[in-house]
Amino acid sequence: PTDLNALADEYLRLAYHGLRAKHKDFNATLTTDFDLQLGPVTVVVEDISRVLLNLFTNAFYAIHKKASQLPPSAYKPTVSVSTQRAVKGVLLRVRDNGTGIPLEVIDKIFHPFFTTKPPGEGTGLGLSLSYDIITKGHGGTLTVNSGAGEYSEFTIWLPESR
Ligand code: ADP
Ligand code: MG
Repeated sequence: PTDLNALADEYLRLAYHGLRAKHKDFNATLTTDFDLQLGPVTVVVEDISRVLLNLFTNAFYAIHKKASQLPPSAYKPTVSVSTQRAVKGVLLRVRDNGTGIPLEVIDKIFHPFFTTKPPGEGTGLGLSLSYDIITKGHGGTLTVNSGAGEYSEFTIWLPESR
């Protein structure tokens, strides 16, 4: 049984710190909307931690990339995380207003080794591993919504412990 709010908050900040270690002049807005009534959620903590770190790392990469293409006055890079109770489980959402995901690649992002990042910057394994951890490992779902050029939003649903 784990405090998913605390875990998500920790990994959001860890991923932001990781990006800022490389790009010291980069600033983003982080927003959190945690359901304080969520209660403990039964998960494999080290596996869910990897999922969270990958989702947040991807989100920060996407906002940093977009920020490098726009004047600072035109863009406020933001990563948001929220939790809520849902039908027979909990929902956790990670949203960024970065590059978004083009339609022609969105079907491939959960495939192993699929990456749009330059060599050395991505293995393409993060989302396929995350998908297996959430579905096979926890009996949950991992879905994505995106507007190309606008935003990406990943939603995890985890069933309540049986
Ligand atoms: P990697 O990060 O090593 O590329 P992932 O499996 O984590 O591998 O992601 C696969 C691809 O999905 C990324 O290369 C990128 O094209 C796309 N992607 C994932 N998350 C985001 C996001 N938040 N915004 C835009 N594109 C994303
Ligand atoms: Mg990744």
